[in-house]
Amino acid sequence: MPALSDLHKEMRACAKCPILVKNRTQVVPGVGAEDAKIMFVGEAPGFNEDKLGEPFVGAAGNFLNELLASIGLKREQIFISNVIKCRPPENREPLPTEIQNCRPWLDAQISLIRPKVIVTLGRFAMESFLPGKSISKVHGQAFKIGNLTIFAMYHPAAALYQQSQRDVIKNDFLKLPGIIAGMKTEAAVPIVEAVQPKKEEPRQMTMF
Ligand code: URA
Repeated sequence: MPALSDLHKEMRACAKCPILVKNRTQVVPGVGAEDAKIMFVGEAPGFNEDKLGEPFVGAAGNFLNELLASIGLKREQIFISNVIKCRPPENREPLPTEIQNCRPWLDAQISLIRPKVIVTLGRFAMESFLPGKSISKVHGQAFKIGNLTIFAMYHPAAALYQQSQRDVIKNDFLKLPGIIAGMKTEAAVPIVEAVQPKKEEPRQMTMF
């Protein structure tokens, strides 16, 4: 199994998306603990991330730091990445082909880090794990896919433009410690068993 640093080295040489390759300053693979139990997945690097090579270092990142601090989590304890690892020109939305091209990198990160909880930030990250769901319906909810818990959140950048979203995001975030606690005591607390999933459907926890 290659180390995460080897994977990121390979990722930095990726040339699958010509437009992104042409426009990027650098690939932004992700940052944090290699053995993090909690992984955050955003949408794509923006201007600052592209310049510094680290996810969530701009205004949305400041809000994310605030959210993490509100539950006593430090960046060093988690891993942060994005659905796509290169900045789209003018910060446009990632294209389906770009998401598809980049998916193996995200999957490889997940395989190496083996998080217990993935917090999806925004629609694109949510759709990567919960296809067919709507962010306005599932934000603040946790879903079980095998041993992995997916916790869907609005993107922190939404709070920068819509003050009303700020409280929603803050409140959703406060549910995370409960999910992490459930993860630690998974064997003892049958939090996910109340709803029998339909085949192929992720199981939705009923505690929220
Ligand atoms: N928004 C994202 O989705 N990711 C980043 O890294 C920064 C802003």
